[in-house]
Amino acid sequence: MTRYEPVIGLEVHAQIHTASKMFCRCPVVEDTGDLEPNTYVCPVCTAMPGTLPVINRRAVELTIMTGLALNCEILPVSRFARKSYFYPDLPKGYQISQHALPLARDGYLEIETENGTRRVRIDNVHLEEDTGKLFHVGNVSLVDFNRAGVPLIEIVTKPDMRSAEEVRAFAVKLREILIYLGVNSGDMEKGVMRFEASVSVRPVGSDELMPRHEIKNLNSFRALARAVAYEIEQQIRVLEGGGQVTQETMGWDDARGVTYTQRTKEYAHDYRYFPEPDLPPLEVGREWVESLRRQLPELPDARRARFRAEYGLGDFETELLVADRAVADYFEAAVSLGKTSPKTLANWITGDLFRLMKETKRRIDEIPVSPEGLVDLIQRVEEGAVNLNTGREILEEMVATGKEARQIIEEKGLAQISDEAALRGIIEQVLDQHPAQVEQYVGGKTQVAGWLMGQVMKATKGRANPQLVRRLLNEALEARRKGR
Ligand code: ZN
Ligand code: MN
Repeated sequence: MTRYEPVIGLEVHAQIHTASKMFCRCPVVEDTGDLEPNTYVCPVCTAMPGTLPVINRRAVELTIMTGLALNCEILPVSRFARKSYFYPDLPKGYQISQHALPLARDGYLEIETENGTRRVRIDNVHLEEDTGKLFHVGNVSLVDFNRAGVPLIEIVTKPDMRSAEEVRAFAVKLREILIYLGVNSGDMEKGVMRFEASVSVRPVGSDELMPRHEIKNLNSFRALARAVAYEIEQQIRVLEGGGQVTQETMGWDDARGVTYTQRTKEYAHDYRYFPEPDLPPLEVGREWVESLRRQLPELPDARRARFRAEYGLGDFETELLVADRAVADYFEAAVSLGKTSPKTLANWITGDLFRLMKETKRRIDEIPVSPEGLVDLIQRVEEGAVNLNTGREILEEMVATGKEARQIIEEKGLAQISDEAALRGIIEQVLDQHPAQVEQYVGGKTQVAGWLMGQVMKATKGRANPQLVRRLLNEALEARRKGR
Protein backbone atom coordinates (compact mmCIF):
# COMPACT_ATOMS: atom_id res chain seq x y z
CA MET A 1 0.00 0.00 0.00
CA THR A 2 1.22 3.51 -0.81
CA ARG A 3 2.39 5.55 2.12
CA TYR A 4 1.68 9.26 1.99
CA GLU A 5 3.60 12.30 3.08
CA PRO A 6 1.92 15.61 3.94
CA VAL A 7 3.31 18.80 2.38
CA ILE A 8 2.33 21.93 4.26
CA GLY A 9 3.08 25.60 3.82
CA LEU A 10 1.86 28.53 5.91
CA GLU A 11 0.86 32.11 5.31
CA VAL A 12 0.81 34.07 8.52
CA HIS A 13 -0.70 37.51 8.92
CA ALA A 14 0.49 39.44 11.95
CA GLN A 15 -0.78 42.88 12.90
CA ILE A 16 1.91 45.43 13.63
CA HIS A 17 1.03 47.49 16.66
CA THR A 18 2.52 50.79 15.62
CA ALA A 19 1.13 54.04 17.00
CA SER A 20 -0.66 54.80 13.74
CA LYS A 21 -2.06 52.86 10.79
CA MET A 22 -0.11 51.82 7.68
CA PHE A 23 -0.97 54.73 5.40
CA CYS A 24 -2.76 57.31 7.58
CA ARG A 25 -2.60 58.91 11.04
CA CYS A 26 -5.42 56.93 12.65
CA PRO A 27 -4.32 55.19 15.83
CA VAL A 28 -3.88 51.41 15.91
CA VAL A 29 -6.05 50.09 18.72
CA GLU A 30 -6.03 46.45 19.84
CA ASP A 31 -9.42 44.84 19.20
CA THR A 32 -10.87 44.24 22.65
CA GLY A 33 -14.28 43.55 21.12
CA ASP A 34 -15.96 46.53 22.78
CA LEU A 35 -14.66 49.42 20.66
CA GLU A 36 -17.25 51.75 19.16
CA PRO A 37 -17.32 50.84 15.43
CA ASN A 38 -15.87 53.27 12.89
CA THR A 39 -14.31 55.60 15.43
CA TYR A 40 -10.65 55.10 14.42
CA VAL A 41 -11.14 56.04 10.80
CA CYS A 42 -10.32 58.91 8.42
CA PRO A 43 -10.77 59.70 4.72
CA VAL A 44 -7.60 57.74 3.83
CA CYS A 45 -8.46 54.41 5.47
CA THR A 46 -12.07 54.64 4.28
CA ALA A 47 -10.87 55.35 0.71
CA MET A 48 -12.47 58.71 0.10
CA PRO A 49 -11.71 59.97 -3.44
CA GLY A 50 -8.64 62.15 -3.70
CA THR A 51 -6.84 60.81 -0.63
CA LEU A 52 -3.27 59.52 -0.87
CA PRO A 53 -1.37 56.99 1.26
CA VAL A 54 1.78 57.85 3.25
CA ILE A 55 4.04 54.95 4.31
CA ASN A 56 4.45 54.29 8.06
CA ARG A 57 8.21 54.17 8.63
CA ARG A 58 8.04 52.17 11.85
CA ALA A 59 5.93 49.46 10.18
CA VAL A 60 8.63 49.15 7.51
CA GLU A 61 11.30 48.89 10.21
CA LEU A 62 9.48 46.18 12.14
CA THR A 63 8.94 44.21 8.93
CA ILE A 64 12.64 44.46 8.12
CA MET A 65 13.50 43.34 11.67
CA THR A 66 11.14 40.40 11.29
CA GLY A 67 12.88 39.53 8.03
CA LEU A 68 16.27 39.72 9.75
CA ALA A 69 15.09 37.56 12.66
CA LEU A 70 13.93 35.01 10.08
CA ASN A 71 17.36 35.01 8.38
CA CYS A 72 16.05 36.70 5.25
CA GLU A 73 17.72 38.81 2.63
CA ILE A 74 16.43 42.41 2.75
CA LEU A 75 15.80 43.75 -0.74
CA PRO A 76 17.41 47.13 -1.52
CA VAL A 77 14.24 48.19 -3.36
CA SER A 78 10.77 46.91 -2.65
CA ARG A 79 7.46 47.95 -4.15
CA PHE A 80 3.92 48.27 -2.97
CA ALA A 81 1.32 46.77 -5.27
CA ARG A 82 -2.45 46.79 -5.57
CA LYS A 83 -4.12 43.47 -4.94
CA SER A 84 -7.62 43.86 -6.31
CA TYR A 85 -10.62 41.99 -5.07
CA PHE A 86 -14.17 42.91 -4.17
CA TYR A 87 -15.30 42.47 -0.66
CA PRO A 88 -17.32 44.95 1.42
CA ASP A 89 -14.66 45.16 4.16
CA LEU A 90 -12.12 46.46 1.64
CA PRO A 91 -13.05 50.09 1.01
CA LYS A 92 -10.68 50.77 -1.89
CA GLY A 93 -11.62 47.61 -3.77
CA TYR A 94 -7.97 46.65 -3.52
CA GLN A 95 -5.46 46.04 -0.74
CA ILE A 96 -2.09 47.77 -0.82
CA SER A 97 0.34 44.89 -0.44
CA GLN A 98 3.69 43.83 -1.86
CA HIS A 99 4.03 41.23 -4.56
CA ALA A 100 6.97 40.98 -6.97
CA LEU A 101 9.34 42.90 -4.68
CA PRO A 102 8.67 42.21 -0.98
CA LEU A 103 10.79 43.77 1.77
CA ALA A 104 12.45 40.46 2.65
CA ARG A 105 12.82 36.99 1.16
CA ASP A 106 14.71 33.69 1.22
CA GLY A 107 15.03 33.09 4.94
CA TYR A 108 14.40 30.22 7.31
CA LEU A 109 13.29 29.36 10.81
CA GLU A 110 14.51 26.29 12.67
CA ILE A 111 12.03 24.32 14.74
CA GLU A 112 12.53 21.48 17.20
CA THR A 113 10.64 18.33 16.26
CA GLU A 114 10.68 14.75 17.49
CA ASN A 115 12.98 14.05 14.53
CA GLY A 116 15.44 16.73 15.65
CA THR A 117 15.90 20.28 14.39
CA ARG A 118 14.16 21.04 11.09
CA ARG A 119 14.62 24.07 8.91
CA VAL A 120 11.51 25.66 7.43
CA ARG A 121 12.37 27.98 4.58
CA ILE A 122 10.72 31.39 4.39
CA ASP A 123 9.69 32.42 0.89
CA ASN A 124 9.12 36.06 1.73
CA VAL A 125 8.08 38.60 4.34
CA HIS A 126 6.01 41.47 3.05
CA LEU A 127 4.07 44.43 4.33
CA GLU A 128 0.41 45.21 3.69
CA GLU A 129 -2.71 46.63 5.33
CA ASP A 130 -5.51 44.93 7.22
CA THR A 131 -9.13 44.99 6.07
CA GLY A 132 -12.20 46.12 7.98
CA LYS A 133 -14.58 43.69 9.63
CA LEU A 134 -18.06 42.56 8.72
CA PHE A 135 -20.84 41.81 11.18
CA HIS A 136 -23.95 39.97 10.15
CA VAL A 137 -27.02 40.92 12.13
CA GLY A 138 -30.23 39.26 11.01
CA ASN A 139 -30.69 40.17 7.34
CA VAL A 140 -28.19 43.01 7.27
CA SER A 141 -24.44 43.17 7.20
CA LEU A 142 -22.57 45.94 8.99
CA VAL A 143 -19.00 47.01 8.37
CA ASP A 144 -16.50 48.40 10.85
CA PHE A 145 -13.38 50.07 9.47
CA ASN A 146 -11.49 50.49 12.76
CA ARG A 147 -9.17 47.69 11.65
CA ALA A 148 -8.92 48.85 8.01
CA GLY A 149 -5.40 50.03 7.28
CA VAL A 150 -3.75 48.52 10.37
CA PRO A 151 -0.26 47.44 9.25
CA LEU A 152 0.08 43.72 8.60
CA ILE A 153 3.18 41.61 8.11
CA GLU A 154 2.62 38.58 5.95
CA ILE A 155 5.10 35.73 6.35
CA VAL A 156 4.99 33.09 3.63
CA THR A 157 6.82 29.79 4.08
CA LYS A 158 7.92 27.24 1.52
CA PRO A 159 5.90 23.98 1.72
CA ASP A 160 8.47 22.48 4.08
CA MET A 161 6.37 21.18 6.96
CA ARG A 162 5.42 17.52 7.13
CA SER A 163 2.95 17.20 10.02
CA ALA A 164 0.42 19.14 12.06
CA GLU A 165 2.91 19.06 14.97
CA GLU A 166 5.58 20.77 12.86
CA VAL A 167 3.09 23.40 11.76
CA ARG A 168 2.20 24.07 15.35
CA ALA A 169 5.86 24.25 16.42
CA PHE A 170 6.54 26.74 13.64
CA ALA A 171 3.55 28.90 14.54
CA VAL A 172 4.40 28.92 18.25
CA LYS A 173 8.00 29.89 17.58
CA LEU A 174 7.07 32.58 15.09
CA ARG A 175 4.67 34.11 17.59
CA GLU A 176 7.42 34.24 20.22
CA ILE A 177 9.75 36.03 17.81
CA LEU A 178 7.09 38.59 16.88
CA ILE A 179 6.45 39.31 20.56
CA TYR A 180 10.18 39.67 21.20
CA LEU A 181 10.49 42.12 18.32
CA GLY A 182 7.59 44.16 19.69
CA VAL A 183 5.53 43.61 16.53
CA ASN A 184 2.41 42.87 18.56
CA SER A 185 1.13 41.45 21.85
CA GLY A 186 0.73 37.90 20.53
CA ASP A 187 -2.82 37.94 21.88
CA MET A 188 -4.44 35.47 19.51
CA GLU A 189 -7.92 36.00 20.93
CA LYS A 190 -7.71 39.59 19.68
CA GLY A 191 -6.84 38.39 16.20
CA VAL A 192 -3.33 39.83 16.12
CA MET A 193 -2.07 36.69 14.34
CA ARG A 194 -4.00 34.67 11.75
CA PHE A 195 -2.96 31.59 9.83
CA GLU A 196 -3.68 30.04 6.47
CA ALA A 197 -2.34 26.59 5.75
CA SER A 198 -1.81 24.99 2.35
CA VAL A 199 -2.04 21.24 2.65
CA SER A 200 -1.44 18.49 0.12
CA VAL A 201 -0.28 14.89 0.39
CA ARG A 202 1.87 12.85 -1.98
CA PRO A 203 3.32 9.35 -2.06
CA VAL A 204 6.44 9.08 0.08
CA GLY A 205 9.49 9.42 -2.15
CA SER A 206 7.80 11.73 -4.65
CA ASP A 207 8.93 15.34 -4.79
CA GLU A 208 6.01 16.53 -6.88
CA LEU A 209 3.79 19.30 -5.54
CA MET A 210 0.18 18.12 -5.66
CA PRO A 211 -2.98 20.27 -5.89
CA ARG A 212 -3.52 21.74 -2.45
CA HIS A 213 -6.26 22.84 -0.14
CA GLU A 214 -5.76 26.27 1.32
CA ILE A 215 -7.50 26.55 4.70
CA LYS A 216 -8.39 30.14 5.56
CA ASN A 217 -8.89 32.04 8.80
CA LEU A 218 -7.32 29.80 11.41
CA ASN A 219 -7.09 32.01 14.45
CA SER A 220 -5.57 29.79 17.12
CA PHE A 221 -2.80 27.20 17.34
CA ARG A 222 -5.40 24.62 18.20
CA ALA A 223 -7.58 25.39 15.17
CA LEU A 224 -4.49 25.43 12.97
CA ALA A 225 -3.22 22.04 14.13
CA ARG A 226 -6.66 20.42 14.07
CA ALA A 227 -7.53 21.72 10.60
CA VAL A 228 -4.20 20.56 9.16
CA ALA A 229 -4.51 17.12 10.76
CA TYR A 230 -8.06 16.82 9.45
CA GLU A 231 -7.06 17.78 5.89
CA ILE A 232 -4.16 15.32 5.84
CA GLU A 233 -6.45 12.50 6.89
CA GLN A 234 -9.18 13.48 4.40
CA GLN A 235 -6.85 13.80 1.44
CA ILE A 236 -5.20 10.45 2.13
CA ARG A 237 -8.66 8.90 2.30
CA VAL A 238 -9.60 10.45 -1.07
CA LEU A 239 -6.39 9.25 -2.74
CA GLU A 240 -6.67 5.78 -1.26
CA GLY A 241 -10.22 5.59 -2.58
CA GLY A 242 -8.86 6.25 -6.06
CA GLY A 243 -10.06 9.87 -6.14
CA GLN A 244 -8.22 13.10 -6.83
CA VAL A 245 -7.71 16.23 -4.77
CA THR A 246 -8.39 19.48 -6.61
CA GLN A 247 -7.08 22.91 -5.73
CA GLU A 248 -9.60 24.56 -3.42
CA THR A 249 -10.02 27.21 -0.76
CA MET A 250 -11.42 25.77 2.43
CA GLY A 251 -13.04 27.13 5.55
CA TRP A 252 -12.69 25.54 8.98
CA ASP A 253 -15.72 24.70 11.11
CA ASP A 254 -14.24 24.63 14.58
CA ALA A 255 -17.36 23.34 16.28
CA ARG A 256 -17.73 20.34 13.97
CA GLY A 257 -13.99 19.89 13.49
CA VAL A 258 -14.19 19.74 9.69
CA THR A 259 -13.03 21.79 6.69
CA TYR A 260 -15.49 22.72 3.94
CA THR A 261 -15.12 24.05 0.41
CA GLN A 262 -15.47 27.83 0.13
CA ARG A 263 -14.56 28.27 -3.51
CA THR A 264 -12.22 26.87 -6.04
CA LYS A 265 -8.84 28.46 -5.49
CA GLU A 266 -8.10 31.83 -7.03
CA TYR A 267 -4.74 32.27 -8.73
CA ALA A 268 -2.41 35.25 -8.43
CA HIS A 269 -3.59 36.61 -11.80
CA ASP A 270 -7.14 36.86 -10.41
CA TYR A 271 -5.89 39.67 -8.18
CA ARG A 272 -4.56 41.74 -11.12
CA TYR A 273 -1.53 42.82 -9.14
CA PHE A 274 0.13 45.98 -10.41
CA PRO A 275 2.52 48.52 -8.85
CA GLU A 276 0.79 51.02 -6.55
CA PRO A 277 0.99 54.26 -8.56
CA ASP A 278 0.50 56.47 -5.49
CA LEU A 279 3.66 55.22 -3.75
CA PRO A 280 7.24 55.38 -4.98
CA PRO A 281 9.52 52.33 -4.85
CA LEU A 282 10.75 51.88 -1.30
CA GLU A 283 14.53 52.10 -1.08
CA VAL A 284 16.13 50.42 1.90
CA GLY A 285 19.76 51.49 2.34
CA ARG A 286 22.38 49.11 3.79
CA GLU A 287 23.09 51.44 6.73
CA TRP A 288 19.42 51.41 7.68
CA VAL A 289 19.34 47.60 7.57
CA GLU A 290 22.53 47.34 9.64
CA SER A 291 21.25 49.78 12.25
CA LEU A 292 18.05 47.70 12.53
CA ARG A 293 20.12 44.54 12.82
CA ARG A 294 21.92 46.11 15.79
CA GLN A 295 18.55 46.91 17.37
CA LEU A 296 17.41 43.27 17.27
CA PRO A 297 16.76 42.03 20.81
CA GLU A 298 18.17 38.76 22.07
CA LEU A 299 15.82 36.26 20.41
CA PRO A 300 14.05 33.42 22.25
CA ASP A 301 16.46 30.59 21.31
CA ALA A 302 19.50 32.55 22.45
CA ARG A 303 17.73 33.56 25.62
CA ARG A 304 16.73 29.99 26.42
CA ALA A 305 20.35 28.85 26.10
CA ARG A 306 21.50 31.68 28.34
CA PHE A 307 18.82 31.05 31.00
CA ARG A 308 19.93 27.44 31.31
CA ALA A 309 23.64 28.29 31.45
CA GLU A 310 23.53 31.48 33.51
CA TYR A 311 20.77 30.68 36.00
CA GLY A 312 21.00 26.89 36.06
CA LEU A 313 17.30 26.51 35.24
CA GLY A 314 15.78 23.33 33.80
CA ASP A 315 14.25 23.05 30.33
CA PHE A 316 10.68 23.21 31.56
CA GLU A 317 10.90 26.38 33.65
CA THR A 318 13.15 28.01 31.03
CA GLU A 319 10.46 27.35 28.45
CA LEU A 320 7.76 28.85 30.68
CA LEU A 321 9.79 31.98 31.39
CA VAL A 322 11.16 32.66 27.90
CA ALA A 323 7.98 32.07 25.88
CA ASP A 324 6.82 35.59 26.70
CA ARG A 325 9.39 38.35 26.51
CA ALA A 326 7.71 40.42 29.22
CA VAL A 327 7.86 37.46 31.61
CA ALA A 328 11.53 36.84 30.84
CA ASP A 329 12.27 40.54 31.35
CA TYR A 330 10.37 40.53 34.64
CA PHE A 331 12.29 37.49 35.84
CA GLU A 332 15.64 39.03 34.94
CA ALA A 333 14.74 42.34 36.58
CA ALA A 334 13.96 40.39 39.78
CA VAL A 335 17.14 38.28 39.57
CA SER A 336 19.26 41.37 39.04
CA LEU A 337 18.27 42.67 42.49
CA GLY A 338 20.56 39.92 43.77
CA LYS A 339 18.45 39.08 46.82
CA THR A 340 16.92 35.72 45.95
CA SER A 341 18.07 32.72 43.97
CA PRO A 342 16.98 32.44 40.31
CA LYS A 343 15.50 29.04 41.08
CA THR A 344 13.28 30.40 43.89
CA LEU A 345 12.16 33.28 41.70
CA ALA A 346 11.36 30.94 38.81
CA ASN A 347 9.19 28.86 41.15
CA TRP A 348 7.22 31.86 42.41
CA ILE A 349 6.72 33.32 38.94
CA THR A 350 5.79 30.13 37.07
CA GLY A 351 3.74 28.87 40.00
CA ASP A 352 1.67 31.37 41.94
CA LEU A 353 2.14 34.41 39.74
CA PHE A 354 1.18 32.54 36.55
CA ARG A 355 -1.88 31.11 38.30
CA LEU A 356 -2.97 34.56 39.45
CA MET A 357 -2.36 36.04 36.00
CA LYS A 358 -4.50 33.35 34.48
CA GLU A 359 -7.27 33.80 37.05
CA THR A 360 -7.36 37.56 36.53
CA LYS A 361 -6.78 37.26 32.75
CA ARG A 362 -3.90 39.71 32.85
CA ARG A 363 -0.44 39.76 31.34
CA ILE A 364 2.57 40.20 33.55
CA ASP A 365 2.92 43.85 32.54
CA GLU A 366 -0.71 44.41 33.56
CA ILE A 367 -0.48 43.19 37.15
CA PRO A 368 0.42 45.72 39.85
CA VAL A 369 3.27 43.70 41.36
CA SER A 370 6.73 44.95 40.43
CA PRO A 371 9.80 42.66 40.39
CA GLU A 372 10.98 44.57 43.50
CA GLY A 373 7.63 43.93 45.20
CA LEU A 374 7.78 40.20 44.50
CA VAL A 375 11.39 39.92 45.70
CA ASP A 376 10.48 41.79 48.88
CA LEU A 377 7.70 39.29 49.57
CA ILE A 378 9.94 36.29 48.89
CA GLN A 379 12.54 37.68 51.28
CA ARG A 380 9.94 38.04 54.04
CA VAL A 381 9.03 34.38 53.55
CA GLU A 382 12.67 33.31 53.52
CA GLU A 383 13.44 35.30 56.65
CA GLY A 384 10.46 33.74 58.39
CA ALA A 385 8.50 36.97 58.86
CA VAL A 386 5.54 35.13 57.28
CA ASN A 387 5.20 31.46 56.46
CA LEU A 388 4.98 30.13 52.93
CA ASN A 389 1.22 29.69 52.79
CA THR A 390 0.62 33.16 54.17
CA GLY A 391 3.16 34.47 51.64
CA ARG A 392 1.11 32.98 48.84
CA GLU A 393 -2.05 34.60 50.19
CA ILE A 394 -0.24 37.92 50.41
CA LEU A 395 0.78 37.63 46.75
CA GLU A 396 -2.84 37.10 45.82
CA GLU A 397 -3.75 40.25 47.73
CA MET A 398 -0.89 42.16 46.08
CA VAL A 399 -2.14 41.16 42.62
CA ALA A 400 -5.71 42.11 43.55
CA THR A 401 -4.97 45.45 45.22
CA GLY A 402 -1.52 46.61 44.15
CA LYS A 403 -0.55 47.00 47.82
CA GLU A 404 2.93 46.13 49.06
CA ALA A 405 3.57 43.04 51.16
CA ARG A 406 4.54 45.11 54.22
CA GLN A 407 1.23 46.98 54.15
CA ILE A 408 -0.85 43.81 53.80
CA ILE A 409 1.00 42.10 56.66
CA GLU A 410 0.40 45.11 58.92
CA GLU A 411 -3.24 45.62 57.99
CA LYS A 412 -4.18 41.98 58.30
CA GLY A 413 -1.95 41.11 61.23
CA LEU A 414 -0.34 38.33 59.22
CA ALA A 415 3.10 38.48 60.77
CA GLN A 416 4.34 35.00 61.57
CA ILE A 417 4.31 34.02 65.22
CA SER A 418 7.88 33.14 66.07
CA ASP A 419 7.63 33.98 69.77
CA GLU A 420 8.57 30.72 71.51
CA ALA A 421 6.80 31.47 74.78
CA ALA A 422 3.56 32.36 72.97
CA LEU A 423 3.72 29.22 70.82
CA ARG A 424 4.47 26.98 73.83
CA GLY A 425 1.33 28.31 75.49
CA ILE A 426 -0.79 27.60 72.41
CA ILE A 427 0.70 24.09 72.07
CA GLU A 428 -0.08 23.23 75.70
CA GLN A 429 -3.66 24.38 75.18
CA VAL A 430 -4.04 22.24 72.05
CA LEU A 431 -2.61 19.18 73.84
CA ASP A 432 -4.96 19.69 76.78
CA GLN A 433 -7.91 19.87 74.37
CA HIS A 434 -6.98 16.57 72.70
CA PRO A 435 -6.07 14.09 75.43
CA ALA A 436 -7.00 11.06 73.27
CA GLN A 437 -4.45 11.95 70.60
CA VAL A 438 -1.81 12.70 73.22
CA GLU A 439 -2.52 9.28 74.70
CA GLN A 440 -1.99 7.66 71.29
CA TYR A 441 1.34 9.45 70.90
CA VAL A 442 2.50 8.39 74.31
CA GLY A 443 1.46 4.86 73.42
CA GLY A 444 3.90 4.91 70.48
CA LYS A 445 1.68 6.07 67.63
CA THR A 446 3.92 9.06 66.88
CA GLN A 447 2.34 9.80 63.45
CA VAL A 448 -0.43 11.58 65.33
CA ALA A 449 2.03 14.42 65.86
CA GLY A 450 1.27 15.58 62.31
CA TRP A 451 -2.42 15.91 63.12
CA LEU A 452 -1.65 17.81 66.30
CA MET A 453 0.64 20.10 64.32
CA GLY A 454 -2.32 20.89 62.05
CA GLN A 455 -4.41 21.82 65.11
CA VAL A 456 -1.72 24.22 66.30
CA MET A 457 -1.52 25.85 62.87
CA LYS A 458 -5.31 26.15 62.88
CA ALA A 459 -5.27 27.73 66.32
CA THR A 460 -2.84 30.37 65.04
CA LYS A 461 -4.80 30.87 61.79
CA GLY A 462 -1.80 29.57 59.87
CA ARG A 463 0.47 32.30 61.15
CA ALA A 464 2.80 30.17 63.26
CA ASN A 465 6.33 29.51 62.08
CA PRO A 466 5.97 25.84 61.06
CA GLN A 467 9.58 24.79 61.74
CA LEU A 468 9.36 26.25 65.22
CA VAL A 469 5.99 24.63 65.91
CA ARG A 470 7.35 21.25 64.84
CA ARG A 471 10.27 21.49 67.26
CA LEU A 472 8.26 22.86 70.19
CA LEU A 473 5.45 20.36 69.67
CA ASN A 474 7.90 17.45 69.72
CA GLU A 475 9.45 18.79 72.89
CA ALA A 476 6.04 19.13 74.53
CA LEU A 477 4.94 15.64 73.51
CA GLU A 478 8.21 14.07 74.64
CA ALA A 479 7.86 15.88 77.97
CA ARG A 480 4.41 14.32 78.41
CA ARG A 481 5.68 10.88 77.51
CA LYS A 482 8.47 11.11 80.08
CA GLY A 483 6.17 12.72 82.62
CA ARG A 484 4.06 9.57 82.86
ZN1 ZN B 1 -7.23 56.52 8.75
MN1 MN C 1 -2.07 39.00 2.72
